Amino acid sequence: MPLESTLTEFIIGEQRKFSRATGGFTALLNDIQLACKRIACLLGRGALAGVHGAAAGENVQGERQMKLDVMANDIFLRTNEWGGHLAAMASEELEAVYQIPAQHPRGRYLLAFDPLDGSSNIDVNVAVGSIFSVLRCAEGVSVPTAQDFLQPGAQQVCAGYAIYGPTAMLVLTLGHGVHGFTLDREIGEFILTHPDLRIPGETSEFAINASNERFWEPPVRRYISECLAGRSGPRGKDFNMRWIASFVAEVHRILMRGGLFMYPKDSKDPAKAGRLRLLYEANPMAWLVEQAGGAASTGRARMLDVAPEGLHQRVPVVLGSREEVERIARYHAEHDQGADQPYTSPLFNKRSLFVQ
Ligand code: MN
Ligand code: MN
Repeated sequence: MPLESTLTEFIIGEQRKFSRATGGFTALLNDIQLACKRIACLLGRGALAGVHGAAAGENVQGERQMKLDVMANDIFLRTNEWGGHLAAMASEELEAVYQIPAQHPRGRYLLAFDPLDGSSNIDVNVAVGSIFSVLRCAEGVSVPTAQDFLQPGAQQVCAGYAIYGPTAMLVLTLGHGVHGFTLDREIGEFILTHPDLRIPGETSEFAINASNERFWEPPVRRYISECLAGRSGPRGKDFNMRWIASFVAEVHRILMRGGLFMYPKDSKDPAKAGRLRLLYEANPMAWLVEQAGGAASTGRARMLDVAPEGLHQRVPVVLGSREEVERIARYHAEHDQGADQPYTSPLFNKRSLFVQ
């Protein structure tokens, strides 16, 4: 009887194929997958474990923290700090870089993570997830600072997420395609069930928070209005809309069946260039999407080329099926060159604050 491949076997196989990989990296991924299993287990207990509801405080971004945000963050830190593979960690829930406690050995990788993504969905029992990104720490750095994490996404050595839905899955890339693993709860292992995920180039499904429409820039209005016009509009076909309000779940859907996701730049809060965070949300997902044949952009630049300026920096995100992402990037370019006049007419509202 052929046995299915576990995540651990898969990682060791990858390590043997690519001589630059080390055993330490495999051990790090084992710790990351253990953190995800622990969170999956806790989420599965839900109200039985008394873990629903809000925590006392706010996180560093001034967002309401749920009890599970705090618990998932602790699980990620505790599970990954002792193994000797990490030089430091950065979390959505921590303002500063997390230093490896002195009693543990330090390693050569940096781990950035969102311990629980979509946490507003916890109490309504909708899929949430964890997102992670692994970078190399520069040689000779003994106490990593935020600056050491400010590497473009193209320099990631591993990126992935766990999704906690009806089944728990872990999806990751090491730069050689995207592979999905399903948690077998009886043996406690992630099993390779979705090798070589590919995103179709075309789609007729998009996801955007339409309640922000009045804050969008003209190129985004143009794109969405064309989709909404359906078969009788310029696209000549009908579109479906999806919105789960959980980034992990949105990206997972796109990896499973294609589609487009956007959280674009808007004028709602001029201090924020977007909603999602570059280092531990946008970059890992952008690399996964590219590795699956899709594309990821800010609307004006390839996501993986963005030079990060801050640990918790936000960016506009457009990702998914390649042809749609390229179309939206083109609409932004045409707008910035003033070449989209019909779409900035009063029909599509006045130009936003961002455009002179
Ligand atoms: Mn998140
Ligand atoms: Mn989160």
